[in-house]
Amino acid sequence: MFAALLAVVVGSVVCVPQQPQEPHHPKIASGNLLLRGGRIHTGTNTDWPGALSVEAGRIRRGDSLDPAFDATAIDLPADAFVMPGLQDAHGHLRLLGTALAEVDLVGTASFDEVIARAVAKAATQPAGTWILGRGWDQNDWPDTAMPHHRALSAAIPDHPVWLVRVDGHAGLANQKALQQENVTRDSAVGAGGEILRDAAGEPTGVLVDDAMAAIQPPAPTVAQIRERLLAAQRECLRHGLTCVHDAGVDATTLQAMVDLHREGKWWLRTYVLLAPTERELIARGPWQTPDGRIVVRAVKAYADGALGSRGAALLADYADAPGKRGLVPMPKGSVQVQAQFCADHGMQLCMHAIGDAANRTVLDAYAAVKTNGEPAAGRLRFRIEHAQVIADADFVRFRDLGVLPSMQPTHLTSDMPWAGQRLGPERLAGTYAWTRFHRLGVIVPFGSDFPVESVDPRRGLFAAVTTRAPAVGQPGAGPNGGGPPGGFRPDQRLSREQALRGFTLHAAYGMFAEDRLGTIELGKVADLTVFDRDLRTCSEDELLTAKVLLTVVGGQVVYDGRGQ
Ligand SMILES: [Zn+2]
Repeated sequence: MFAALLAVVVGSVVCVPQQPQEPHHPKIASGNLLLRGGRIHTGTNTDWPGALSVEAGRIRRGDSLDPAFDATAIDLPADAFVMPGLQDAHGHLRLLGTALAEVDLVGTASFDEVIARAVAKAATQPAGTWILGRGWDQNDWPDTAMPHHRALSAAIPDHPVWLVRVDGHAGLANQKALQQENVTRDSAVGAGGEILRDAAGEPTGVLVDDAMAAIQPPAPTVAQIRERLLAAQRECLRHGLTCVHDAGVDATTLQAMVDLHREGKWWLRTYVLLAPTERELIARGPWQTPDGRIVVRAVKAYADGALGSRGAALLADYADAPGKRGLVPMPKGSVQVQAQFCADHGMQLCMHAIGDAANRTVLDAYAAVKTNGEPAAGRLRFRIEHAQVIADADFVRFRDLGVLPSMQPTHLTSDMPWAGQRLGPERLAGTYAWTRFHRLGVIVPFGSDFPVESVDPRRGLFAAVTTRAPAVGQPGAGPNGGGPPGGFRPDQRLSREQALRGFTLHAAYGMFAEDRLGTIELGKVADLTVFDRDLRTCSEDELLTAKVLLTVVGGQVVYDGRGQ
């Protein structure tokens, strides 16, 4: 059964030219394409001379063209850099669209600023409407203690407010929301979450992990979901992304995406990691749209929480919280049952695991999964999402089991200000350690975890090659500046080629697509990103400011940034 399903997925990817309909992309070119000029970074050992042609969505050489070849020709500036299409191996499209529709709290320098932004939104909405926001991080504030809802509730008494922390593992509710959702001093939660309380025993409004489920703002309508997906797509294409591995997709969201695709409005190549609750969809096995634009072949589940909120499951105590080791990781038995269910249906499992205890549990569980008596984890390319804190002995197990650590370079630079405090210097050596994986020959797909981090892949490239955050004044700079000038983890700095490969070929491998995506080669699918300068030779700072000239998916120009 598995072989038959596989054939469906790796079968020919035919580009179906779609008519431009969506107002934000007026310049869609369909059919054949000819790019002239610029440098062509193939991602293999040799560059191509400056021309590349695309026929029926596939890459052909540009320097031996039949004169009768009928194509839309685009002349690129001499400095242009044509590269294999950038991928993000771990993002959340619907959440990105939601974030674009909500109060953006990323980079707030104080709780007062959070309140001010929420007040501004509330002023535009009738009383009683939910005010939703995301992205605050108390570690960036003068007072790094978790906030109390008091001041927020005083400023916004008539709207329920729910503001999710930057890592998605905690949220702050105001009084109105707490009342409406019946969260009181008597509310109880299980071991997987926490209701923070003040000295008087009253909820502070901060709910951690599983306790967050107590706050249930009304679900968005299908029309809102479609709008949000389209907004997320625009944002991805604008930043040069040709493909996103969308982590934790539910049936409703998938249906909206497939509908948009059928209507000719979905161009972004999308590799779907289903939510673990969608058991019927998982049991259907691998599946894709006829043109291969949307591929459903994976499942995303959680083994622990995040480091920032001390939810990551560690083998030893947090250095800054003696006696605490984070959430109890999902037991090995449960992970194994989930992994076996995926394997039985030919599906790839991608488990979120951040702490070293969670990573070990997942590796143990993966090692036990078999199909037809054979180990299945390597063949199904089981992944661990984030793989942030790894015990020394466990690095080599990724290689031996064929498990892929799917990592996000910007997590390193965002966590930099406090990761050392949480873990202490010794454990830090096994944290965000992508070069250790590279040295073992392990494939490391790169992504961003947007909207937890910026969707902009330039930030990830910069983080991977510098292990610095953007300095104050540079695009994407946080309140903490860039960190140590030589990098926070100088031993983990990657070469430009390695970093680019993480966002191209290695990401493609993470979705079983290295035979058709990830490099520029004859006959491969024409997913391309074109920048205004060579990302291999420009200065490190220019990695943050290089401009996307074109985004091409399946031979179609889906974003044109020239002249913008
Ligand atoms: Zn994520």
